[in-house]
Amino acid sequence: MIFTRGISVGCGYCAPGNETVLWRGDKCRVILADEPGFDGWCRVIWNEHVRELSDLDEAERGHLMGIVAKLERTLIGALQPVKMNLAALGTAAPHLHFHVIPRFETDANFPDPVWTERRHRNSRLDRNALADRLRDALQALPVS
Ligand SMILES: [Zn+2]
Repeated sequence: MIFTRGISVGCGYCAPGNETVLWRGDKCRVILADEPGFDGWCRVIWNEHVRELSDLDEAERGHLMGIVAKLERTLIGALQPVKMNLAALGTAAPHLHFHVIPRFETDANFPDPVWTERRHRNSRLDRNALADRLRDALQALPVS
């Protein structure tokens, strides 16, 4: 299959119906995921439809991983999680994105992996207030 960059009609990451954007740059954006039971679960999404990390050139890859690391550090500073989890899966929607997930003893299935069955769906923090806090904290990220 020949794969080209750009915007792909029908891809939920290229054309999201509704997402809570915390920060937007020229190449990627950070959203607060809607994952009840997991406070602060964010995704860093490459804006163009790119399938794999290795499809990016070295500078792009460095930019993306820099944003992931700065987001991780921001979430640690804001929320003091027990541990951070990072993942790039996207098998069903092959559009490059990283999950950046603070883990807490109170989260939906601590200490098991986040993709196992949830024992509860209770968030401790107010989602809108958390989004505002994180937007403020992420303002210093480089746009491109
Ligand atoms: Zn896409």
